[in-house]
Amino acid sequence: MTVPNINLSNFNTLLFTAGLFLFAFVLWQKKSKLDETKKYNQDLILANEEIVHYSKEYQLLADRMKGIVDAMDSLSKIPTPENKNKINLLNSKFDKLNKNTKNIQDILGKTYIKSNTISEYYDMVQRTSNSSGDTRMLVISGVLMLIGMIGIQKKSNYESQILKNKYDSLKNHHSDCQSCGMKLNHDINFKHDSDYCTYCYNGTSFNHSNVDLEDFKIEVAEQLTKKGFTEKEISSHLKKMNRLLRWRKKFDWS
Ligand SMILES: [Zn+2]
Repeated sequence: MTVPNINLSNFNTLLFTAGLFLFAFVLWQKKSKLDETKKYNQDLILANEEIVHYSKEYQLLADRMKGIVDAMDSLSKIPTPENKNKINLLNSKFDKLNKNTKNIQDILGKTYIKSNTISEYYDMVQRTSNSSGDTRMLVISGVLMLIGMIGIQKKSNYESQILKNKYDSLKNHHSDCQSCGMKLNHDINFKHDSDYCTYCYNGTSFNHSNVDLEDFKIEVAEQLTKKGFTEKEISSHLKKMNRLLRWRKKFDWS
C-alpha cells in the first residue's frame, strides 16, 4: 500500500495563521481607532472649555470698555480741565483694555480653528471605525481560520487512517521474523500470534537482549554463513533487516 504524499498541512497551517494574524490586526486597528476617538473627544472638550473661558473674559473686557466709553461721554459734556485730565486717563486705560481684547480675540479665533480641526478628525476616525470594511475583514479572517482548521483536521484524520490500515496490513501479513528476518514458516516451533521466530523471542523477552541492530546483524551473518548462504544473499538479507519492527525506533511509514 502506498501513502500518497499530500503536503496540505503546511498550506492549511498557513491559512490558519494568516486568518489569525488578520483577525488580530483588525482588532488592534479597531482598538487604536477607538483610543484615537477617545483622545479627540477629550481634546474637543478641552478646546470648548477654553472657548467658553475666553468668551467670558472677552465679554468682561467689552463691558468694562463700554463703561469707560460711557464715563468719557458724560465727562466730555462738562469740559473742565479736570475732566479733560480724567478723559485722558480713561483713554489710556481704554487703549490698554483694547489691546487685551484683541489678544483674546486672537486666542479665541485660534481655539475655534483648533476645535473645528479636532471635530473634523473626530468625524473622520468615527466614520472609518464604523466602516463595513472591518466587518468584512473579520469575516474573511474567520473563514481563513476555519478552512485551515478543517484542512488540518482532515489531513490528520486521513493520516491516522492510512497508518492504521498500513499497520493492520503489516500485522496480518508478516511472513518474516521481525527481528532476524527469517521466514516464519521455517521455524518449526513458531506460534501464529507472534511477529518473531522462536530463535529470537521466547514469548516474553528477546533471546539476544541488549543488542543493537549492527551487533545483531553480525550474529545473523554468522548463522547464515554456517548455513551456506552466499555473501550476496547475506548482504541483501542484512539490508532487509533495517525495516523490521524490532529495529524501528518508531513507526516510520515512509
Ligand atoms: Zn528471528
